[in-house]
Amino acid sequence: MAIILDGKAYASVVKEKTKAEVERLGLTPGLAVVIVGDDGASRIYVNNKKKDCAECGIKSEEFALPAEAGQDKLLGLIDELNNRDDINGILVQLPLPEGYDEQVVIQAIAPHKDVDAFHMENVGRVMDGNFTFAPCTPYGVMRLLEHHGIDPAGKHCVVVGRSNIVGKPMAMLLLHKHATVTICHSRTPDLAEMTRKADILVAAVGKPKLITADMVKPGAVVIDVAINRGDDGKLCGDVDYAPVEEIASHITPVPGGVGPMTRAILMENTVIAAKKASGK
Ligand code: NDP
Repeated sequence: MAIILDGKAYASVVKEKTKAEVERLGLTPGLAVVIVGDDGASRIYVNNKKKDCAECGIKSEEFALPAEAGQDKLLGLIDELNNRDDINGILVQLPLPEGYDEQVVIQAIAPHKDVDAFHMENVGRVMDGNFTFAPCTPYGVMRLLEHHGIDPAGKHCVVVGRSNIVGKPMAMLLLHKHATVTICHSRTPDLAEMTRKADILVAAVGKPKLITADMVKPGAVVIDVAINRGDDGKLCGDVDYAPVEEIASHITPVPGGVGPMTRAILMENTVIAAKKASGK
Protein backbone atom coordinates (compact mmCIF):
# COMPACT_ATOMS: atom_id res chain seq x y z
CA MET A 1 0.00 0.00 0.00
CA ALA A 2 1.34 3.39 -1.00
CA ILE A 3 2.01 6.29 1.33
CA ILE A 4 -0.62 8.94 0.65
CA LEU A 5 0.80 12.34 -0.27
CA ASP A 6 -1.81 14.37 1.58
CA GLY A 7 -1.86 17.70 -0.25
CA LYS A 8 -4.76 18.98 1.79
CA ALA A 9 -2.87 18.59 5.07
CA TYR A 10 0.36 20.10 3.77
CA ALA A 11 -1.50 22.96 2.04
CA SER A 12 -2.93 23.93 5.44
CA VAL A 13 0.60 24.15 6.82
CA VAL A 14 1.73 26.25 3.84
CA LYS A 15 -1.24 28.60 4.29
CA GLU A 16 -0.58 28.96 8.02
CA LYS A 17 3.04 29.85 7.30
CA THR A 18 1.87 32.32 4.66
CA LYS A 19 -0.45 33.95 7.18
CA ALA A 20 2.38 34.18 9.70
CA GLU A 21 4.60 35.78 7.04
CA VAL A 22 1.89 38.36 6.27
CA GLU A 23 1.70 39.22 9.98
CA ARG A 24 5.48 39.39 10.29
CA LEU A 25 5.73 41.73 7.30
CA GLY A 26 2.90 43.93 8.57
CA LEU A 27 1.43 44.16 5.07
CA THR A 28 -2.00 43.58 3.59
CA PRO A 29 -1.29 41.89 0.25
CA GLY A 30 -4.00 42.41 -2.35
CA LEU A 31 -5.11 39.83 -4.90
CA ALA A 32 -7.47 40.81 -7.74
CA VAL A 33 -9.48 37.85 -8.98
CA VAL A 34 -11.02 38.47 -12.38
CA ILE A 35 -13.80 36.23 -13.63
CA VAL A 36 -15.44 36.63 -17.02
CA GLY A 37 -18.74 34.91 -17.80
CA ASP A 38 -20.68 32.46 -15.65
CA ASP A 39 -18.84 29.14 -15.92
CA GLY A 40 -19.85 27.09 -12.87
CA ALA A 41 -16.45 25.47 -12.27
CA SER A 42 -14.69 28.85 -12.55
CA ARG A 43 -17.09 30.29 -9.97
CA ILE A 44 -16.19 27.50 -7.52
CA TYR A 45 -12.46 28.05 -8.09
CA VAL A 46 -12.82 31.82 -7.59
CA ASN A 47 -14.82 31.37 -4.37
CA ASN A 48 -12.17 28.95 -3.06
CA LYS A 49 -9.40 31.42 -3.84
CA LYS A 50 -11.26 34.18 -1.98
CA LYS A 51 -11.63 31.86 1.00
CA ASP A 52 -7.91 31.05 0.95
CA CYS A 53 -7.10 34.78 0.85
CA ALA A 54 -9.25 35.40 3.93
CA GLU A 55 -7.45 32.57 5.76
CA CYS A 56 -4.02 34.02 4.92
CA GLY A 57 -4.69 37.70 5.69
CA ILE A 58 -4.70 38.63 2.00
CA LYS A 59 -7.28 41.13 0.78
CA SER A 60 -9.07 39.68 -2.25
CA GLU A 61 -11.08 41.79 -4.61
CA GLU A 62 -13.33 40.15 -7.18
CA PHE A 63 -14.02 41.66 -10.59
CA ALA A 64 -16.84 39.85 -12.39
CA LEU A 65 -17.45 40.78 -16.01
CA PRO A 66 -20.26 39.41 -18.15
CA ALA A 67 -19.11 37.20 -21.05
CA GLU A 68 -20.23 39.87 -23.50
CA ALA A 69 -18.07 42.60 -21.88
CA GLY A 70 -15.44 42.06 -24.56
CA GLN A 71 -11.68 41.88 -24.58
CA ASP A 72 -11.07 45.65 -24.63
CA LYS A 73 -13.00 46.09 -21.42
CA LEU A 74 -11.04 43.25 -19.82
CA LEU A 75 -7.73 44.71 -20.99
CA GLY A 76 -8.81 48.09 -19.60
CA LEU A 77 -9.50 46.49 -16.23
CA ILE A 78 -6.11 44.74 -16.20
CA ASP A 79 -4.42 48.03 -17.02
CA GLU A 80 -6.19 49.66 -14.09
CA LEU A 81 -5.16 46.81 -11.75
CA ASN A 82 -1.56 46.93 -13.03
CA ASN A 83 -1.48 50.53 -11.83
CA ARG A 84 -3.04 50.04 -8.41
CA ASP A 85 -0.52 49.96 -5.56
CA ASP A 86 -2.87 48.04 -3.26
CA ILE A 87 -3.12 45.16 -5.74
CA ASN A 88 -0.07 42.88 -5.71
CA GLY A 89 -1.39 39.93 -7.68
CA ILE A 90 -3.76 39.68 -10.63
CA LEU A 91 -5.40 36.41 -11.46
CA VAL A 92 -7.62 36.03 -14.50
CA GLN A 93 -9.63 32.85 -14.09
CA LEU A 94 -9.26 30.62 -17.15
CA PRO A 95 -10.75 29.50 -19.45
CA LEU A 96 -12.12 32.75 -20.82
CA PRO A 97 -15.37 32.65 -22.82
CA GLU A 98 -15.30 32.47 -26.61
CA GLY A 99 -14.15 35.65 -28.31
CA TYR A 100 -11.29 36.34 -25.88
CA ASP A 101 -7.66 35.69 -26.74
CA GLU A 102 -6.21 34.21 -23.56
CA GLN A 103 -2.63 34.83 -24.59
CA VAL A 104 -3.26 38.54 -25.23
CA VAL A 105 -5.02 38.85 -21.88
CA ILE A 106 -2.29 37.03 -19.92
CA GLN A 107 0.48 39.03 -21.56
CA ALA A 108 -1.30 42.24 -20.50
CA ILE A 109 -0.78 41.43 -16.80
CA ALA A 110 2.30 43.16 -15.35
CA PRO A 111 4.86 40.34 -14.86
CA HIS A 112 5.50 41.35 -11.24
CA LYS A 113 1.77 40.89 -10.51
CA ASP A 114 1.43 37.67 -12.53
CA VAL A 115 1.04 35.34 -9.55
CA ASP A 116 -0.03 32.46 -11.84
CA ALA A 117 3.33 32.80 -13.65
CA PHE A 118 1.78 32.50 -17.10
CA HIS A 119 3.27 35.71 -18.55
CA MET A 120 6.10 35.07 -21.03
CA GLU A 121 8.59 36.83 -18.79
CA ASN A 122 7.79 34.45 -15.95
CA VAL A 123 7.69 31.45 -18.31
CA GLY A 124 11.20 32.40 -19.41
CA ARG A 125 12.37 32.73 -15.83
CA VAL A 126 11.02 29.28 -14.98
CA MET A 127 12.86 27.92 -18.01
CA ASP A 128 16.02 29.65 -16.80
CA GLY A 129 15.57 28.36 -13.25
CA ASN A 130 15.87 31.82 -11.71
CA PHE A 131 12.27 32.69 -10.98
CA THR A 132 10.22 34.73 -8.54
CA PHE A 133 6.94 32.93 -9.26
CA ALA A 134 6.51 29.44 -10.61
CA PRO A 135 3.13 28.21 -11.89
CA CYS A 136 1.09 27.15 -8.88
CA THR A 137 0.23 23.57 -9.87
CA PRO A 138 3.65 22.22 -10.86
CA TYR A 139 5.36 24.15 -8.10
CA GLY A 140 2.81 22.77 -5.65
CA VAL A 141 3.81 19.27 -6.80
CA MET A 142 7.49 20.07 -6.23
CA ARG A 143 6.76 21.31 -2.73
CA LEU A 144 4.70 18.24 -1.90
CA LEU A 145 7.53 15.98 -3.08
CA GLU A 146 10.06 17.95 -1.06
CA HIS A 147 7.87 17.84 2.05
CA HIS A 148 7.78 14.06 1.83
CA GLY A 149 11.55 13.77 1.32
CA ILE A 150 11.24 12.67 -2.32
CA ASP A 151 14.23 14.01 -4.21
CA PRO A 152 13.89 13.91 -8.03
CA ALA A 153 17.70 14.06 -8.49
CA GLY A 154 18.88 11.13 -10.58
CA LYS A 155 15.34 9.76 -10.95
CA HIS A 156 13.53 9.15 -14.19
CA CYS A 157 10.43 11.34 -14.16
CA VAL A 158 7.74 10.84 -16.76
CA VAL A 159 5.26 13.69 -17.20
CA VAL A 160 2.13 12.81 -19.15
CA GLY A 161 0.72 16.03 -20.65
CA ARG A 162 2.52 18.97 -22.25
CA SER A 163 0.31 21.98 -21.56
CA ASN A 164 1.86 25.36 -20.89
CA ILE A 165 0.31 25.58 -17.45
CA VAL A 166 1.06 22.08 -16.12
CA GLY A 167 3.05 19.60 -18.22
CA LYS A 168 5.83 21.79 -19.62
CA PRO A 169 6.64 23.75 -16.44
CA MET A 170 6.36 20.51 -14.42
CA ALA A 171 9.02 18.92 -16.60
CA MET A 172 11.22 22.00 -16.31
CA LEU A 173 10.99 22.17 -12.51
CA LEU A 174 11.89 18.47 -12.25
CA LEU A 175 14.79 19.02 -14.62
CA HIS A 176 16.08 21.86 -12.43
CA LYS A 177 16.11 19.33 -9.58
CA HIS A 178 18.35 17.05 -11.67
CA ALA A 179 15.78 14.49 -12.75
CA THR A 180 15.94 12.84 -16.15
CA VAL A 181 12.62 13.86 -17.66
CA THR A 182 10.45 12.35 -20.37
CA ILE A 183 7.37 14.26 -21.55
CA CYS A 184 4.51 12.26 -23.10
CA HIS A 185 1.44 13.52 -24.93
CA SER A 186 -1.41 12.43 -27.16
CA ARG A 187 0.97 11.44 -29.96
CA THR A 188 3.27 9.32 -27.82
CA PRO A 189 2.99 5.94 -29.61
CA ASP A 190 3.30 3.58 -26.62
CA LEU A 191 2.42 5.49 -23.47
CA ALA A 192 2.60 2.43 -21.21
CA GLU A 193 6.14 1.65 -22.30
CA MET A 194 7.15 5.16 -21.20
CA THR A 195 5.20 5.32 -17.94
CA ARG A 196 6.55 1.92 -16.82
CA LYS A 197 10.03 3.46 -16.81
CA ALA A 198 9.05 6.20 -14.37
CA ASP A 199 10.43 6.44 -10.84
CA ILE A 200 8.17 9.49 -10.51
CA LEU A 201 5.11 9.55 -12.74
CA VAL A 202 3.09 12.74 -13.13
CA ALA A 203 -0.27 12.45 -14.89
CA ALA A 204 -1.71 15.74 -16.17
CA VAL A 205 -4.09 14.83 -18.96
CA GLY A 206 -7.74 14.94 -17.93
CA LYS A 207 -8.84 11.39 -18.76
CA PRO A 208 -10.18 9.16 -15.96
CA LYS A 209 -8.34 5.84 -15.58
CA LEU A 210 -5.84 6.62 -18.34
CA ILE A 211 -3.07 5.35 -16.05
CA THR A 212 -3.76 1.77 -15.08
CA ALA A 213 -1.72 -0.41 -12.70
CA ASP A 214 0.05 -2.24 -15.52
CA MET A 215 1.47 1.13 -16.65
CA VAL A 216 3.16 1.82 -13.31
CA LYS A 217 6.50 0.47 -12.12
CA PRO A 218 6.14 -1.12 -8.66
CA GLY A 219 7.49 1.32 -6.07
CA ALA A 220 7.01 4.41 -8.25
CA VAL A 221 5.84 7.76 -6.90
CA VAL A 222 2.55 8.61 -8.63
CA ILE A 223 1.34 12.21 -8.84
CA ASP A 224 -2.14 12.72 -10.22
CA VAL A 225 -2.68 16.34 -11.27
CA ALA A 226 -5.94 15.83 -13.14
CA ILE A 227 -9.37 16.81 -11.90
CA ASN A 228 -12.08 14.89 -13.74
CA ARG A 229 -15.66 13.91 -13.13
CA GLY A 230 -15.99 10.14 -13.21
CA ASP A 231 -19.00 8.23 -14.54
CA ASP A 232 -20.34 8.16 -10.97
CA GLY A 233 -20.25 11.98 -10.89
CA LYS A 234 -17.43 12.00 -8.32
CA LEU A 235 -14.13 13.82 -8.73
CA CYS A 236 -11.26 11.64 -9.90
CA GLY A 237 -7.86 11.99 -11.53
CA ASP A 238 -6.17 10.26 -14.46
CA VAL A 239 -4.94 7.36 -12.34
CA ASP A 240 -6.91 4.20 -11.67
CA TYR A 241 -6.43 4.87 -7.99
CA ALA A 242 -7.23 1.65 -6.06
CA PRO A 243 -5.07 -0.80 -8.06
CA VAL A 244 -2.24 1.73 -8.52
CA GLU A 245 -2.19 2.48 -4.80
CA GLU A 246 -1.43 -1.22 -4.24
CA ILE A 247 1.87 -1.04 -6.13
CA ALA A 248 3.07 2.57 -5.89
CA SER A 249 5.36 3.72 -3.08
CA HIS A 250 3.58 7.10 -2.82
CA ILE A 251 0.43 8.47 -4.44
CA THR A 252 -1.62 11.67 -4.42
CA PRO A 253 -5.38 11.30 -3.93
CA VAL A 254 -7.96 13.19 -6.01
CA PRO A 255 -9.40 15.24 -4.45
CA GLY A 256 -7.02 16.25 -1.66
CA GLY A 257 -3.69 15.91 -3.45
CA VAL A 258 -2.36 18.44 -5.94
CA GLY A 259 -5.45 20.72 -5.99
CA PRO A 260 -5.05 22.15 -2.47
CA MET A 261 -1.33 22.66 -3.07
CA THR A 262 -2.11 24.74 -6.17
CA ARG A 263 -4.30 27.03 -4.06
CA ALA A 264 -1.72 27.33 -1.28
CA ILE A 265 1.07 28.27 -3.70
CA LEU A 266 -1.12 31.01 -5.17
CA MET A 267 -1.29 32.53 -1.69
CA GLU A 268 2.46 32.25 -1.28
CA ASN A 269 3.06 33.86 -4.67
CA THR A 270 0.78 36.77 -3.75
CA VAL A 271 2.71 37.39 -0.55
CA ILE A 272 6.03 37.19 -2.43
CA ALA A 273 4.68 39.84 -4.85
CA ALA A 274 3.57 42.08 -1.97
CA LYS A 275 6.89 41.68 -0.20
CA LYS A 276 8.82 42.62 -3.35
CA ALA A 277 6.56 45.61 -4.02
CA SER A 278 7.05 46.90 -0.46
CA GLY A 279 10.83 46.49 -0.63
CA LYS A 280 10.75 44.57 2.69
P1 NDP B 1 -4.67 20.28 -21.38
O1 NDP B 1 -5.92 19.75 -21.98
O2 NDP B 1 -4.19 21.63 -21.72
O3 NDP B 1 -3.48 19.24 -21.70
C1 NDP B 1 -3.69 17.87 -21.65
C2 NDP B 1 -2.45 17.18 -22.14
O4 NDP B 1 -2.71 15.78 -22.14
C3 NDP B 1 -2.05 17.54 -23.57
O5 NDP B 1 -0.67 17.78 -23.64
C4 NDP B 1 -2.43 16.31 -24.39
O6 NDP B 1 -1.59 16.04 -25.48
C5 NDP B 1 -2.26 15.22 -23.37
N1 NDP B 1 -3.06 14.03 -23.70
C6 NDP B 1 -4.34 13.98 -24.10
N2 NDP B 1 -4.72 12.70 -24.31
C7 NDP B 1 -3.64 11.94 -24.05
C8 NDP B 1 -3.40 10.56 -24.09
N3 NDP B 1 -4.34 9.68 -24.45
N4 NDP B 1 -2.17 10.11 -23.77
C9 NDP B 1 -1.19 10.98 -23.41
N5 NDP B 1 -1.37 12.31 -23.33
C10 NDP B 1 -2.58 12.78 -23.67
O7 NDP B 1 -4.87 20.13 -19.81
P2 NDP B 1 -4.14 20.87 -18.56
O8 NDP B 1 -2.69 20.63 -18.62
O9 NDP B 1 -4.64 22.23 -18.43
O10 NDP B 1 -4.77 20.03 -17.36
C11 NDP B 1 -4.54 18.64 -17.26
C12 NDP B 1 -5.40 18.11 -16.13
O11 NDP B 1 -5.00 18.71 -14.92
C13 NDP B 1 -6.89 18.41 -16.28
O12 NDP B 1 -7.62 17.35 -15.71
C14 NDP B 1 -7.08 19.64 -15.42
O13 NDP B 1 -8.40 19.75 -14.89
C15 NDP B 1 -6.10 19.36 -14.31
N6 NDP B 1 -5.61 20.54 -13.61
C16 NDP B 1 -5.52 20.44 -12.26
C17 NDP B 1 -5.03 21.48 -11.52
C18 NDP B 1 -4.91 21.30 -10.07
O14 NDP B 1 -4.82 22.27 -9.35
N7 NDP B 1 -4.88 20.06 -9.57
C19 NDP B 1 -4.64 22.74 -12.14
C20 NDP B 1 -4.67 22.71 -13.60
C21 NDP B 1 -5.16 21.64 -14.30
P3 NDP B 1 -1.47 17.01 -26.76
O15 NDP B 1 -0.64 18.17 -26.32
O16 NDP B 1 -0.80 16.17 -27.78
O17 NDP B 1 -2.86 17.41 -27.12
